[in-house]
Amino acid sequence: MKIICIGRNYPDHAAELGNEIPDEPVIFMKPKSALLQAHTPFYYPEFTNELHYECELVLRVCKNGKYIQERHASNYYNGITVGIDFTARDIQDECKKKGLPWEKAKAFDNSAAVGKFVDITPDMNKKNINFSFNKNSEPVQQGNSGKMIFSFDSIIAHISNYFSLNIGDLIFTGTPAGVGECVVGDELEAFLEGASLLKLEVK
Ligand code: ZN
Repeated sequence: MKIICIGRNYPDHAAELGNEIPDEPVIFMKPKSALLQAHTPFYYPEFTNELHYECELVLRVCKNGKYIQERHASNYYNGITVGIDFTARDIQDECKKKGLPWEKAKAFDNSAAVGKFVDITPDMNKKNINFSFNKNSEPVQQGNSGKMIFSFDSIIAHISNYFSLNIGDLIFTGTPAGVGECVVGDELEAFLEGASLLKLEVK
């Protein structure tokens, strides 16, 4: 199982970090060891002084495939939830400055938190899925899948040109504006269409 993440998929978030709007999906990966298992505490990593949350819609792959055409892409995922792409922003900024890969900032242990999955039903409008994120009960991020630069289907098609998709793979689809710092003691909660699917405390 692997975790594939899309960066800069919402114009408002690209702007807040001073990044350009990409002309193709920005892809990075997290290893299996990045997955925060359910009911496992999340500990603030010792190597960063600026840990950020990024709340994102996460897709679950249900079919193996490669070179998937966009018009067939919806057959390849059947579950959706909200997740947190934890990012050591100070380390990422350093990596970016030096032109180095982002793994130390993005792919560390437990950096991928995922909520409870909801089945994708045929009547679900995948271009209008609302999600939101609270820090200490204050709303800090709000997103809608309709605002993504690259849709779920185009992401799947693009990724599969480079990486085989396998059953159980997870795809983080990018974060909207409002990313920010979290510190020890913060309560983080993510919602899909108003339903709380992920809740954790930074320890
Ligand atoms: Zn992200």
